[in-house]
Amino acid sequence: MSIRLRLTLLYSGILACTLVVFSVVLYVLVGRFTLHWQEQALAEEAAQILTQGEFRLTVIRTPQGKVAIPQTFVQTRDLSGQIVSRSINLGSYELPLSDKGLAALTSGQANGWLEIVRTDNGRLLIYSRTVVANGQTVGILQVARSLADLDRTLTTLRQYLVVGTIVSTITAFFVGWVLAGASLRPINRITQTAREIGQARDFSRRVEYEGPNDEIGALVTTLNEMLTELQAAYQQVEHALVAQRRFVADASHELRTPLTTLRGNVELLQREPPLPPEEQRAILQDVTVEIDRMIRLVRELLTLARADAGLRPRWEPVQLGPLLEDAVRQAQLLRPRPIVRALGTRDAVVLADRDLLRQVLLILLDNALKYTPEDGTVEAQVVVENGCAGIVVRDTGVGIDPAILPHIFDRFFRGDAARRGDGTGLGLAIAKSLVEAMRGEIRVASKPGEGSTFTVLLPLETSVGDGERGDAHRLVAAHRTLP
Ligand code: ADP
Repeated sequence: MSIRLRLTLLYSGILACTLVVFSVVLYVLVGRFTLHWQEQALAEEAAQILTQGEFRLTVIRTPQGKVAIPQTFVQTRDLSGQIVSRSINLGSYELPLSDKGLAALTSGQANGWLEIVRTDNGRLLIYSRTVVANGQTVGILQVARSLADLDRTLTTLRQYLVVGTIVSTITAFFVGWVLAGASLRPINRITQTAREIGQARDFSRRVEYEGPNDEIGALVTTLNEMLTELQAAYQQVEHALVAQRRFVADASHELRTPLTTLRGNVELLQREPPLPPEEQRAILQDVTVEIDRMIRLVRELLTLARADAGLRPRWEPVQLGPLLEDAVRQAQLLRPRPIVRALGTRDAVVLADRDLLRQVLLILLDNALKYTPEDGTVEAQVVVENGCAGIVVRDTGVGIDPAILPHIFDRFFRGDAARRGDGTGLGLAIAKSLVEAMRGEIRVASKPGEGSTFTVLLPLETSVGDGERGDAHRLVAAHRTLP
């Protein structure tokens, strides 16, 4: 059942119930009051009859007579209940008096007695009272009036009330139906638009509404806000998909190159007649270098894939001085060159994941050593600035062309100077992912021919939920041995 029908039935039902209750109360009250007035009028008439001069039980002249009011029937009885006289308008009809009434009146228990009896001409209201002469009860006076007029009025009232209730309810149903339809029309339009948006996946569309800012206005605003969010999320997913496709294409290209080289080298080794032993040794050395490169590439790809899946750093306070020493030592194992430790705030402590941060430092230090000639300098320093602390790695190496500077954090991006080297173009992309996972920032300043400065900054204090402290170790394990 539609909301429109339910609402309309509800209104009409409530209205019908109210009208029924009102009509019943009105009908009963009108009936009671009019009967009460009739009773009072009869009692007054009886009193009037008795006070009009000398009243004798046997003399009653009505309707034209002077003692009774027309349309009032009068009858007298003696104390035994026998009828003594009757008004002419009664014809042959005798006003009844119940035994109970007679007993109450003659015993003095009651002065007046009211009864309603049914006759062929409708209901009759009879008032009986005692007649007292010289202090003695001498008989009973009965006055009666037809209730036919009252009953007719009540019947008409009842008919009006029934018809009025039915007509009002039916009218209320139709008016309610139209009003409910008008109020629900914007909702139907919203449903229609939402359906069209869903079918066409056109999240740039908005629901149009020009009404007041009521409940429906609020619904439309919320829906449009939700569509804005959805559009942003959809675009993000689209961008992510494009990036992922490019990443997969780049990754397969990067893996194919060493594999092709390997295959060429293996074919050379299989050649008949065999190559001279020195050449074979050189080829095997190339093979080893390529295999190492592939291993590194695969490991880095794995690290990035895990970072993309969502990193949860294992937060702990990390003292930067000792961590830098550690990273410098490790970097020098691969490229044994001096690294100058400039004076800094060695005991600065950040909240970070120790292993992830060491990994970042290794990448930066390795790059600095890689892109700085033997006579250049590589310098590392702990710094504190604006509520953050971090490490600066400075070199006097080849520097970076401003044209490529915005791209060096892209995946598989390699500058000209790097093409001949052993890089994969993934180091800085990994460093950026890890630093961002730790809510930090990484920046670079560089001049070609003069050198580069990489800065990693992390908040000195940060509130991190317990749930975020786990899981980082899994990622760390994957790239601990880099590069
Ligand atoms: P790669 O494996 O090529 O070093 P990275 O992602 O670590 O990959 O670096 C991307 C590019 O940024 C490098 O190819 C290089 O051109 C440039 N680069 C990074 N660090 C330095 C540096 N210290 N000096 C000069 N160029 C650098």
